Amino acid sequence: MDIAELARRTAAGERRALARAITLVESARADHRTQAIELMEALPKDREALRIGLSGTPGVGKSTFIESFGMMLTGRALKVAVLAVDPSSTRTGGSILGDKTRMDRLARDPAAFIRPSPSQTHLGGVARRSREAVALCEAAGFDVVLIETVGVGQSETVVAEMSDVFLLLLAPAGGDELQGVKRGIMEIADMIVVNKADGDLKAAAQRTCADYAGALRLLRKRPQDPDGFPRAVMVSALEEHGLDRVWQDLNELTDWRRDNGFWDRTRRAQARYWFHQEVRNAVLAELETPQARAALAGFAEKVASGDMAPGAAASGFLSELGMRRAAK
Ligand code: GDP
Repeated sequence: MDIAELARRTAAGERRALARAITLVESARADHRTQAIELMEALPKDREALRIGLSGTPGVGKSTFIESFGMMLTGRALKVAVLAVDPSSTRTGGSILGDKTRMDRLARDPAAFIRPSPSQTHLGGVARRSREAVALCEAAGFDVVLIETVGVGQSETVVAEMSDVFLLLLAPAGGDELQGVKRGIMEIADMIVVNKADGDLKAAAQRTCADYAGALRLLRKRPQDPDGFPRAVMVSALEEHGLDRVWQDLNELTDWRRDNGFWDRTRRAQARYWFHQEVRNAVLAELETPQARAALAGFAEKVASGDMAPGAAASGFLSELGMRRAAK
């Protein structure tokens, strides 16, 4: 299939085309990258999904939540895509997220599309590909794109950069301590969702929710938040309680942001951010070519032996790569 045709079918919402398009953007092969760039350019640019980032440590109930929440949304005639950004699969080969047995009800729902995390050698690679996968889902006409990640490393920041809203999912705490949630994560959350508010865990969930509501009030107010946000709420993903409230709150938040210019402002800032990342990655990739490696080794040797100063050598190296005009 040629790229124009793949773009057309993806934009028409054909799932197999979308899956294929995502496989293409996930590929690290240079010729695939060229095609992926062409594909991304050929897509309609006027479609917008609500992109919801979701983070939580293993076991808090992310897949249960996504399944229940996703089913609720498809029940409201919305099309839902689920993508995972899983940094663990990159290092260990094992994956915390994205094994195929998860969310099997949602996976069978014709209005839902689930895609596990690509395995890549570094988070940067996963990030770029995930961001393009999100854009593909938007172009394919999904109304909501859920981007799931685990609370390890930098993955939350990366997911926040490709989301319109960010949810932090927590389980009820045993004691009265705040569960060691890093401040940085609290600061990017738009809502804290305390899951498992059912049965024996309900009272603990209430306490945890109140604790986090208190902690959120102590954070510096962000310009992109209306009164009452970020907000802490309780749900039971298992018993499917509180999910409609989360959806209502998210709409209240995003409506306010649209009306007050923050929606566009954030999207524009994110586009700039990803452009800068692309440039950075492309420049770094230039350093990895055999020609660049040889030149780098050559200049390094001259610096080591004292024939050249580091600054002059760097400048000479860049001009040899064509990234800089030679000094006069
Ligand atoms: P993940 O690792 O974050 O994706 O968590 P899972 O969705 O796999 O859930 C981990 C465990 O918590 C499973 O045994 C779920 O059945 C359980 N669980 C998830 N949501 C709830 C809930 O709302 N209430 C209760 N009681 N258990 C839940």
